[in-house]
Amino acid sequence: MSDKALSSEQAEFQAFCRAWLQENKPAPHPTPLPQAAYEVTDPSHLAYLTEWQAKCYEAGLIASDLPQNYGGHGMTGCQQIASAEVRAAGVPYFINWIGLGMAVPTLLECGTEAQKETFLPPIFSAEHIWCQGFSEPGAGSDLASLQASAVKEGDQWVINGSKVWTSLGHFAQYMLLLARQDKSDKYGGITYFLAPMDQPGITVKPIHKMTGESGFNEVFLDNAIVGDHLRVGNVGDGWKVAMATLTSERGAGVGVGAVAGESPMLVMAQVIQLAKDTRRNGRRVWDDPVWRDRIVKVYERTEASLYNGRRARIKALNGGAMRIPLQGKLTGSEISQSLHQIALGILGLKSSLYVGDENAPANGKWPLGYMNTYTGTISGGSSEIQRNILGERVLGLAKSK
Ligand SMILES: Cc1cc2nc3c(=O)[nH]c(=O)nc-3n(C[C@H](O)[C@H](O)[C@H](O)COP(=O)(O)OP(=O)(O)OC[C@H]3O[C@@H](n4cnc5c(N)ncnc54)[C@H](O)[C@@H]3O)c2cc1C
Repeated sequence: MSDKALSSEQAEFQAFCRAWLQENKPAPHPTPLPQAAYEVTDPSHLAYLTEWQAKCYEAGLIASDLPQNYGGHGMTGCQQIASAEVRAAGVPYFINWIGLGMAVPTLLECGTEAQKETFLPPIFSAEHIWCQGFSEPGAGSDLASLQASAVKEGDQWVINGSKVWTSLGHFAQYMLLLARQDKSDKYGGITYFLAPMDQPGITVKPIHKMTGESGFNEVFLDNAIVGDHLRVGNVGDGWKVAMATLTSERGAGVGVGAVAGESPMLVMAQVIQLAKDTRRNGRRVWDDPVWRDRIVKVYERTEASLYNGRRARIKALNGGAMRIPLQGKLTGSEISQSLHQIALGILGLKSSLYVGDENAPANGKWPLGYMNTYTGTISGGSSEIQRNILGERVLGLAKSK
């Protein structure tokens, strides 16, 4: 948000956020944190990040604009400011990104009053970590093919099946769960639940990524029990509720806290610094017109994407299809990948030195980061799917087969 567009209260809040973040920025954890919240596996990192999120929530940087009965701070037009300041301040990320970015918007849109009042405050404070149990071995892009079954027994549901790629499943207290109560109806046969993870019917097994990390899991549901009061929406309305979650995951949700880590401009600045610090053929990479041209091209896309994001506040431009935020997930994830690709190019052969190698520049941050950028271009709908959605729902093109 440009400073000029702020009301005096908003400008005051922005100044408060800046000062608070500088004063309260935590000392680094003794061992480096993973690059993003979805890779955290060390319980001491979890404790450090939980404490940080709780502190930011108390200060009003999370749930700034939400009503107090849901645990919010009751301000107006302040969340976007808080989130932008958090992302620009180089502070640790919020661990409960699925809770903030997906559970909260879903509950606000589709939850009962009791569900909102019970579940929202511990999401903000990171007391309850959430995970998302949508994908299955045979249901990723084609999510409606999911097979996990939900059978009603009295006032509870018995769930059987398996989920895959479940980020933070190893720490989560609750899962946003899609299961099928009717096998004969692809879309109308799905129901949406808030499943407690701490129960004998749920087993979580880590999956190792190509980076060597294991922030996501397989989750096996073997007669797992979910009370009917933990159903979101009507029986058979799970697909509609899932759209509320996915709209947020795809970039168009109601903001309640900065869910991503470093802003693209921070990464951009690091790439420029890398080009200035690296010498090739007797001169700084930054002074080579070819490299400079490559960097400036991504710089332009980064700036354009940021300005485009700001236009999302103008309802008439955005339309019901949420066209601008949906573009944001696509362009943001691809820009991040391009930035890391450039960094690897600048490093040349040294880019093959990975985390743990004492000769690796920046402790292997760039090759690790490059691989991790694929999270953004795959999870929550791959770039191809995101393009299909923009083509079909925003531009009105013919549906892909
Ligand atoms: C790091 C990471 C974290 C994740 N975390 C979670 C999580 O917490 N919870 C969860 O439920 N899921 C999670 N996922 C899963 C993610 O949502 C799926 O990987 C994603 O939806 C793609 O599904 P898939 O992997 O089954 O690929 P597939 O659907 O098999 O797709 C394979 C390829 O085919 C392309 N493709 C498929 N259909 C089409 C089409 N119609 N048009 C054009 N191209 C198409 C895709 O773009 C992709 O390139 C995570 C994934 C990653 C990588």
